[in-house]
Amino acid sequence: MTDLAAKPPVRHLLGLSGGKDSSALAIYMRDRVPEMEYFFADTGAELPETLEFIDLLQDYLGKPIVRLNSARSFDYYLKFHKNYLPSPKQRWCTFNLKLLPFEEFVGNDKVISYVAIRADEPDRAGYISSKRNIRTRFPFKEDGLTKDDIQDILESAGLGMPRYYEWRSRSGCYFCFFQRREEWAGLKQYHPDLYERAKAYEKADEETGKVYTWNQSGTLDELVERAEKAEPVSLKNKPSRKLIDRFGNSEDDEDHGCILCSL
Ligand code: SF4
Repeated sequence: MTDLAAKPPVRHLLGLSGGKDSSALAIYMRDRVPEMEYFFADTGAELPETLEFIDLLQDYLGKPIVRLNSARSFDYYLKFHKNYLPSPKQRWCTFNLKLLPFEEFVGNDKVISYVAIRADEPDRAGYISSKRNIRTRFPFKEDGLTKDDIQDILESAGLGMPRYYEWRSRSGCYFCFFQRREEWAGLKQYHPDLYERAKAYEKADEETGKVYTWNQSGTLDELVERAEKAEPVSLKNKPSRKLIDRFGNSEDDEDHGCILCSL
């Protein structure tokens, strides 16, 4: 006989961005919450290094990382937004390509969502859903784990840091507008094809003549030119940890990164 009083099970969910913190949290939680469901909201514009790292992590976890794909593409939403590229103040990309697929994945289930904010990030706020069926937990904060612990977790698991840290401070779309000019220069150097695709989005509106750029201070070519003049140093061969240090605390600055995309 069906037990009508039985409560539906609570789902435990951990979202991966391909960033170091969420990856370390997945490793940290693997044996603590064996029923954990892992997911990755793929925007369709992820870096090859990110996808590669997600595959490696999946092997380590020994269970599937569910890929969540938006029903519609970035290009669809761009057209919907009259070709206005997303920006730090207009993050329609995050909302449509990350947040909505997540909330659809959750549905009305009771969920505990595990978020990788660290104990040394007191001012950083994670995504907290307004949906009442989603409760958020912060295991690194609860257990006092900081940046060095995250690096140790990744190294102990044999994964190390995702390769894009050689030239970029966080995961996310190849065209992410949060990139600094050095990172755009890195994209050009490491993925010239993706750089060209990012550039192709910077076009003038045929009707108004208005030019849309990823960064308010200029076109990508102008930014890269400035980066090369300011610092004619190849990012290649720089130890990844140094690159993170070089970006310093700014990688944790909410104004310069999207927590849903890069944690
Ligand atoms: S990584 Fe950047 S461009 Fe991609 S969805 Fe997030 S904020 Fe938008």
